[in-house]
Amino acid sequence: MAAFWTEADWDDHELVQLVHDKASGLTAILALHSTHLGPGAGGTRFWHYADPQGAMRDALRLSRGMSYKNAMAGLPMGGGKAVVLLDKDRTKTAAMLAAFGDAVNALGGRYVTAEDVGASEADMVAISKRTPHVCGLPAEEGQLGGDPGPFTAMGIFLGIKAAVAHKLGRQDLDGVRVALQGCGSVGGGVARLLAEEGARLTLADITAARARALAAELGAEAVTADEIMATSCEVFSPNALGAILDEEGIGRLDCRIVAGGANNQLARREHGTLLAERGILYAPDYVINAGGIINVSLEYLCRQHAEPCDLNEVRARIEQIPERLQSIWRESDESGLSADVVADRMAQRLIGRG
Ligand code: NAD
Repeated sequence: MAAFWTEADWDDHELVQLVHDKASGLTAILALHSTHLGPGAGGTRFWHYADPQGAMRDALRLSRGMSYKNAMAGLPMGGGKAVVLLDKDRTKTAAMLAAFGDAVNALGGRYVTAEDVGASEADMVAISKRTPHVCGLPAEEGQLGGDPGPFTAMGIFLGIKAAVAHKLGRQDLDGVRVALQGCGSVGGGVARLLAEEGARLTLADITAARARALAAELGAEAVTADEIMATSCEVFSPNALGAILDEEGIGRLDCRIVAGGANNQLARREHGTLLAERGILYAPDYVINAGGIINVSLEYLCRQHAEPCDLNEVRARIEQIPERLQSIWRESDESGLSADVVADRMAQRLIGRG
């Protein structure tokens, strides 16, 4: 592996640890970007990487992203992320999860883990047998923790309303056309909330039957995954994959606003400027999609301090997402800088790197 400090994504990370446990076969990278605001919180990705460089890039980029996301969500948490390098068959064993839990525990609470791609609630439970520094554990109805999807969806829905108010000067969503990409946990939740407020939805999913079923439930239209980005609408809401906003993707858009939950929507930094040049209002992904991390972080903090958890506190914090977006858009309008650049600068200031 080439030295990671020569990586473009290296950003003065506080700690990057390579864990190799021969007995279980676990290979993992734990990256702490910043603990300026509190313990570095961010999920663990279980993935088969074609080469270790890809795993390192993910750990570096995703942990920095968590620093920004947690700071902008007003959480007393820093940014961290772990990746577990799986074999081609994606073998994940109890022994590997135990060894991973030990590695998290050895950091003594500087890193707090949670679910990410390839992880399940059951994995978090297994990890929690070895360390208390884990969140996203199964929750009873009405309790904190569990599936972050509905909380993420709530924040995105509120963010879309704020974007419509800012860009279109409208306080309601009646008849507002939204093209939504990805009808999974987050996208499905966003679509249902939008439909309740009278938005006119066009839906797409790579699993076409999923989009069709949701469209039938909500009285919406379904189109193919290839068509959704070019659909004429006021709001394009990406809730599937990252890196969809490149020259080609942005060129296809026929919308006034991009606001959705997918992580890392901009393929590269300059694509935020390209969106702004096209007059499209962008809701920085890590600001609008923070509902889930707000939920699991509060679950963790309550458990750590043995305090009762309050769902109203989670809701109140998610309700602050629109305000944060508005302050980004205002500064963007005043400075002429694109919304993503403004958001990054705000986040950097919050983590003491302004
Ligand atoms: P999910 O797996 O439940 O849903 C993703 C959906 O997107 C699936 O239905 C999938 O078939 C569809 N999809 C995949 N590729 C597609 C394509 N090219 N075109 C159209 N549809 C496609 O995942 P999720 O939890 O809903 O997460 C969605 C996005 O939001 C991801 O980028 C994730 O990183 C991000 N995110 C999720 C959360 C959360 O709380 N779950 C929090 C923050 C960010």
